[in-house]
Amino acid sequence: MIAEDTEPPSRGRQPQPGPGDPPESPRIPAMDAAAAAPGRLTAATGPEGGPEGGAERAAAALKPRLRGWLHAGVFPLALVGGIVLIAVSRTGAAVAACSVYAVSACLLFATSAVYHRRTWGPRGEAVLRRLDHANIFLIIAGTYTPLAVLLLPEGRQRVLLAVVWAGALAGIAFRMLWIAAPRWLYTPCYIALGWVAVFNLPDFARTGGTGLVALVITGGLLYTAGAVVYGLKRPNPSPAWFGFHEVFHTLTIAAFSAHYTAILLAAT
Ligand SMILES: [Zn+2]
Repeated sequence: MIAEDTEPPSRGRQPQPGPGDPPESPRIPAMDAAAAAPGRLTAATGPEGGPEGGAERAAAALKPRLRGWLHAGVFPLALVGGIVLIAVSRTGAAVAACSVYAVSACLLFATSAVYHRRTWGPRGEAVLRRLDHANIFLIIAGTYTPLAVLLLPEGRQRVLLAVVWAGALAGIAFRMLWIAAPRWLYTPCYIALGWVAVFNLPDFARTGGTGLVALVITGGLLYTAGAVVYGLKRPNPSPAWFGFHEVFHTLTIAAFSAHYTAILLAAT
């Protein structure tokens, strides 16, 4: 989720960022990277390396070492958590809604881990970056789905599901068709869709209680904080190991945990 991260090859991953473009990662000397990350260099010089092998190698050297590990670690937990949710669901509609949520969560963390853990060639990068960003819209609509089904009366449930899924499909089309859109343009789209059901919070409170709504709001604020860190590329505590992107991923995990707990409360 969140996820992302890297600019297209023509931008942030290059050794020389544009003016005003804060460095996404440290400038590690290639020799240091050669000694520290032989696996990545092997990947970078694979069949897709070609004449760009040097640039690929430099990009590999610039990735924080922990990039992708957080979401890789959360994926099995999200899978087990999703199965638990489905198991405790009491109606067919709840099973369906929790299944949608579980699939969207597993897709998000698995794709993010696969995308971020290694350096891909231009084609792999283009596909995985699109999937990674599309999954953010999926997890937003996927999170709203069980909340709507479990907590809202039928009429409002239909309206909310129509709004969030239409918004998610539009957002996915946007990221698929214009993956190089500027960060300041697409990041607010995630935040806007994420908060689109703020008017339903009183309904959530009425059915699920204030504790559940507090968890929903906490998760929303944590996701929003992650989006802001992603947009600003700050704070960037340890560019070599744990950069701004890892801060963003950490916030998405905390947000996911809050929302998962809220949905578990609603389902049981
Ligand atoms: Zn990411």
